[in-house]
Amino acid sequence: MGKDYTEMWKGLGLNLEKHAGLLGVLSDAYKNIYLSQKERPAGMGYFDFVISEVHGQRIIEILKAKKEGKKIIGTFCLYVPEEIILAADGVCIGLCAGAEVGTSEAEKFIPRNTCALIKAFMGFKLAGLCPYVESTDLIVGETTCDGKKKAYEIFNEITKKVYVMEIPNMKTEEDRKLWLNEVRKFKEKMEEISGKKITLNDLKKASSTVNKKREALQRLSKLRSADPAPISGLDALLVNQVAFYDDPLRFTEMTDRLCAELEERVKQGVGVTKKGTPRIIISGSPIAIPNWKLHAVTEGSGAVVVGEESCVGERNHRELLDENFTTVDEALGKISSRYLTIDCACFTPNNERPDNIKSLVERLGADGIIHYSLQFCTPYMMEAYKVEKTLKSIPFMRLETDYSMEDMGQIKTRVEAFLETIR
Ligand code: SF4
Ligand code: SF4
Repeated sequence: MGKDYTEMWKGLGLNLEKHAGLLGVLSDAYKNIYLSQKERPAGMGYFDFVISEVHGQRIIEILKAKKEGKKIIGTFCLYVPEEIILAADGVCIGLCAGAEVGTSEAEKFIPRNTCALIKAFMGFKLAGLCPYVESTDLIVGETTCDGKKKAYEIFNEITKKVYVMEIPNMKTEEDRKLWLNEVRKFKEKMEEISGKKITLNDLKKASSTVNKKREALQRLSKLRSADPAPISGLDALLVNQVAFYDDPLRFTEMTDRLCAELEERVKQGVGVTKKGTPRIIISGSPIAIPNWKLHAVTEGSGAVVVGEESCVGERNHRELLDENFTTVDEALGKISSRYLTIDCACFTPNNERPDNIKSLVERLGADGIIHYSLQFCTPYMMEAYKVEKTLKSIPFMRLETDYSMEDMGQIKTRVEAFLETIR
């Protein structure tokens, strides 16, 4: 942290003592996990800076935007269309949390056997540790898994600013109509809170911004197919995590710069590990920042993670929006179709997901899959069966864990044994 932000944090109502403790723990974890890596690309310097200022400089930017009249919109799920937020001149921030924080506070409201992601976003708010939640004008929830649906009711009681989009469970014609209607309603909601009528031009500009961000992430994903891998899984994961916080134009520029450097590495055969290192895809539940646990264990055991089949990863950028629209209504139709291509395990059936994983394995030349579910994340825990069945010929390991460090030893033993079978 470059400056003293105490006054800003105080103004946002954070618990200063606990917050200082959290930043201390995060900074130590970052040094141990990230800064100790060998052969890091120079382009990661920008992302190191973003992390060091994640509760500082970025919050200053957000509060400045707010002062200028822009609305700050917090989201938890890929289904919330960023294009509509940007078209209304809003700032879109991902609020999912990946650290075991405020658990005892959260458990006063929700059961112990709730997934770590839900507990963490409740915990961060209740313990007074999240400057992002405090800066938001609107928090957009969605009817995906049961845990989130019910948690948003409580979260609204606490924050008084939750708006929920209804997401269907299936993708039939009727469901598509329902979802299109939800997208239209969300546009109206954004117009209401921003006081700005969204025009065709606004949607064109916003769609181009979000597509460019997706294209930069796709470029990064493709570069990871090289052997030796030009970037570690940990670093690539970080870029995918930062995508939910950063200014989208700057993020795209810096990711493209990183990719240009990686392209040179690939040309010269330079990698972060030796050619032939076991290549792993991590697939399943979202991997919210600062959840670096499984990547750290996997790469610390001598493998390289080459892809994340996750919302923080492929699911976020796999499909571009078709920008070929000429009216606002047509744009909303294209937006609603694009978002329904997301293959979240909350849908039934969800046959696209195993097929998408299969293509990803082929494209990245992966040697094995670690199917990762957060404990109590029923959709992904259940869907592991179907994924494994579809990917019969690929070494596959199921793993359930949370954000605690207690099972690190056990996970390491299992991952090492899995890598032995691949070798
Ligand atoms: S896993 Fe599903 S519900 Fe969770 S963020 Fe991703 S798309 Fe949304
Ligand atoms: S990780 Fe699973 S249980 Fe947790 S919020 Fe996402 S879909 Fe729901």
